[in-house]
Amino acid sequence: MLELNREEFTKEELIKVLRSDDPELLQDLFSTARKIRKEVQGNKIFAYGFVYFTTYCRNNCNFCYYRNSNDIERYRKNEEEVLATSKALIDSGVNLIDLTMGEDPQYHQEKFQTVADIIKKIKQEYDTPVMISPGVVSNEIIDNLAEAGADFYALYQETHNRELFAKLRVGQDYDERMNAKLYAKEKGMLIEEGLLAGVGENEEDIADSLLTMGEIGARQVRVMSFIPQEGSPMENCTSPDRMEELKIIALMRILYPHALIPASLDVDGIKGLKDRINAGANLITSIIPPKSGFMGVAHNTMDVDEGGRTVEEARSILDQMGLVIATREEYKEFIKEVRK
Ligand code: SF4
Repeated sequence: MLELNREEFTKEELIKVLRSDDPELLQDLFSTARKIRKEVQGNKIFAYGFVYFTTYCRNNCNFCYYRNSNDIERYRKNEEEVLATSKALIDSGVNLIDLTMGEDPQYHQEKFQTVADIIKKIKQEYDTPVMISPGVVSNEIIDNLAEAGADFYALYQETHNRELFAKLRVGQDYDERMNAKLYAKEKGMLIEEGLLAGVGENEEDIADSLLTMGEIGARQVRVMSFIPQEGSPMENCTSPDRMEELKIIALMRILYPHALIPASLDVDGIKGLKDRINAGANLITSIIPPKSGFMGVAHNTMDVDEGGRTVEEARSILDQMGLVIATREEYKEFIKEVRK
């Protein structure tokens, strides 16, 4: 059987694992991933607060509910609202605030000054790490965001197959997106890369993505299963079997033992947490305060107002698994090590 407990894999080996439905191999895959996570961070799991502060977007990604052409209700939260929600999330026990937005032309016009101010406040007044997910922005804006103190710049290609990219991110430039990420890294930010499962990729594409994530030095790597979005061109496509996402999480953990790998509550809500953690994820994302008027992305309201996407809910599930949510100090220590 394929030896899984190692960091070097050829593309062919990755493809072999991705194609396999051998129960023995899969069991070995997930237990190896868990073992590696435990060696690196014991029983600690990280938690990120998700603040999707504007749902306006100039783009038309085919898989996205918030694409410009979709006739939906949108919002743009002001600085006060963003800070109040961030503070509530921090008080509830999250380790980092993820400031996410569509590519809102209004923010581009003002060169992200408001966003830079928000980052400074969260960093200085709330003493909490910040991830910024602004889409593709100019180098000048990246300079401002880095200077404001953003720790992470998240920007997902979703696939590293250029042809598929062109079909998914219609009218957008693959290299421009990749270069923005690399520039942010050059400016001292940690970067997050991501892929979507179930959007027309094959195992070879996934293996390419897995290897590219390492080559570009991404410190956080995520996979999410595609969820069909009402009113989008991919509305009638089906959501993939979750095994694909789980295998990818496990392979990411094995390839990159120190990577931050999210178990996103955005795909299957709180009920999907356990499987993703058991596949080797070390981080819970898309924690959103109930009744705050802020939305998620793939399942924009699932479990939010019901209070399912809270630290408290996540904590009770982790507790049954013998795991705990790390403190902010422990998270800061972890990213200090990751930066070395
Ligand atoms: S995925 Fe992001 S960039 Fe693309 S349409 Fe949605 S919000 Fe805009």
